[in-house]
Amino acid sequence: MTNPKIHDDNDNDDFASHLTPEQIDVCFNGGTEPPFSGKYLDDKRKGTYICVACFKPLFKSDTKFDSGTGWPSFFRAIDGAIFYNQDFSHGMERIEVQCSRCRSHLGHMFDDGPAPTGRRYCINSLSLGFIGKKSDNPSPDTTEKSSS
Ligand SMILES: [Zn+2]
Repeated sequence: MTNPKIHDDNDNDDFASHLTPEQIDVCFNGGTEPPFSGKYLDDKRKGTYICVACFKPLFKSDTKFDSGTGWPSFFRAIDGAIFYNQDFSHGMERIEVQCSRCRSHLGHMFDDGPAPTGRRYCINSLSLGFIGKKSDNPSPDTTEKSSS
């Protein structure tokens, strides 16, 4: 019995095998998580946001900002990380952003973001993973000293 497994960059099964049904719906069926539901919305940690499917680094934490929209928002993507796709669905013309490696759906890009780019990448938490950066500084919680 032969069951040849031919590697194909467009074969999403390899990238989806470790994902939850909710993540697969967003990443590979173009779904959108409910606003204010994502686990990275208020995340202020320093580090790098990666593609949840193929682990490619996509956004740095220092380009994240609070857009008030209910989705994690960034004003800049890591060079070469994003594939831009014109999206005419829902009667609107928008720019869909996908992972440039596995083409996982991440969210959309708008041109009403803050300086210096003026861009707003509106991204689903379900499309992202996070790698924290080791802290260079001691925890601010330990600096308080009592003097008698
Ligand atoms: Zn990816």
